[in-house]
Amino acid sequence: MIGGVVLHGTGGVWHVRGEDGTVRQASLRGAVKHAADVKLAVGDAVVLRPDRRGQVWAIAEILPRRSQLVRRSPGGAWGERVIVANVDQVVVVFAIAKPEPHRRMLDRFLVIAEANALAARVVINKIDLASEAAIEARFGDYRRIGYPLHCTSTTIPAGLDALHDALRGRTSVLTGPSGAGKSSLLNAMYPGLGLRVGEISESVEKGRHTTVGAFMHPLPDGGYVVDTPGLREVGLWRIPAEALAGCFPEIRERANACRFTDCRHLTEPGCAVREAVQAGTISAERHESYVKVMGELGNRE
Ligand code: GDP
Ligand code: ZN
Repeated sequence: MIGGVVLHGTGGVWHVRGEDGTVRQASLRGAVKHAADVKLAVGDAVVLRPDRRGQVWAIAEILPRRSQLVRRSPGGAWGERVIVANVDQVVVVFAIAKPEPHRRMLDRFLVIAEANALAARVVINKIDLASEAAIEARFGDYRRIGYPLHCTSTTIPAGLDALHDALRGRTSVLTGPSGAGKSSLLNAMYPGLGLRVGEISESVEKGRHTTVGAFMHPLPDGGYVVDTPGLREVGLWRIPAEALAGCFPEIRERANACRFTDCRHLTEPGCAVREAVQAGTISAERHESYVKVMGELGNRE
């Protein structure tokens, strides 16, 4: 018996990395497939045993998960789908320019992390393209909300050691728009590893457009970086409207001062959240993101 972690899977063949670092192909045939209520996901810790035929290994056991990134799809056709198990944090990477950052999109990624009770950090890359003051003015509020904010550049270079420390020994879902510099950052932090985020996922997506396969890349000094195209299709995530305020830490913190306990922080009188927006203690842009996502949730069914 060998313990391991599921790196990725295609067509019923799962690639499992053992404690010794060897990757073995394994299948989910036989007892465990039918007995366990949990469906195997990328990131799962498993126990392998040699298959009788000796060709592949069999997954004998799925160990309990410490966390999971779940996508709830609208319409209920797919129900819940675990995209990655045992995630420690979501790392959202945007560039300060080229391409222009979209705060709305950043906020959606953070909502997904919060909805899954996962820690999140924000990386603003390409800081060589803007002044420190401009970066602080546009993204400083994320640090004030409580998200660790990394300002990085692969060209100066800057901020790479701190980001490296944040990834070491952890399983991090890395996301953000294409061109933000995710691959460049990984290659700057782990020279010689040749990681390219998005490559594998995109080819999987093209083949079967409903596939949201995640891919775990082991890091040389411990931990994993997870590449998951599913996270980019934010429109497909469903979060109950009443839970949305809980996905914005600064709104969540203020909401109990609202006059009505079921306040949605939209147009209600005595809304402490909107008062905080007017006073400038909650960022108007963040509240706009909240209103926008709320609108989308309401329009869905
Ligand atoms: P990904 O799609 O997020 O993986 O982005 P890539 O790593 O492929 O980078 C996209 C482009 O941005 C490439 O042309 C990189 O050379 C460039 N790039 C990456 N990091 C930086 C940076 O810190 N500063 C600048 N100016 N360009 C960068
Ligand atoms: Zn309110």
